[in-house]
Amino acid sequence: MRKAIFPGSFDPITNGHYDIIKRGISLFDEVIVAIGINAEKKYMFSLDDRKRFIEEAFKNEPKVKVITYEGLTIDLCRKENADFILRGLRNPADFEFEKAIAHTNRRLSKIETVFLLTAAKTSYISSSIVRDVLRNGGDYTVLVPESVKIK
Ligand code: ADP
Repeated sequence: MRKAIFPGSFDPITNGHYDIIKRGISLFDEVIVAIGINAEKKYMFSLDDRKRFIEEAFKNEPKVKVITYEGLTIDLCRKENADFILRGLRNPADFEFEKAIAHTNRRLSKIETVFLLTAAKTSYISSSIVRDVLRNGGDYTVLVPESVKIK
């Protein structure tokens, strides 16, 4: 069984993440969306909300599982029996950043990182832009899946 871990903060999930997960499903038997817990990071959404938004967006997709984790992604891969890490690439900055992490992960394990190029229509979207729009009262709904509902 081909399993991939799609790690990230998902604060919150955006249409860009959604697109990568959807396309990941066609490549892997299971895509495990893994929300990283970093004690030093301040999030806008609680871990529960971030998890619920993703679960609800993929409630009709049995190949998508959502978990939370602490520590190294390669350790999580071992634990979940996943041979692949899935990541999205939007621009050269993403590439440079991801390259170093992927090389490190290959040095420390046999896990392969599979990159999917962002879809043109979601290439500009990031969670931080969504958070900015939200903070300033803009219409964030066009940037995120319907499951992202802010009270
Ligand atoms: P991280 O804190 O690890 O960057 P994110 O939640 O911001 O977590 O992103 C998780 C993954 O989703 C990363 O691989 C990132 O490049 C990818 N990603 C984010 N936004 C988009 C987008 N609009 N198109 C494609 N991939 C994206």
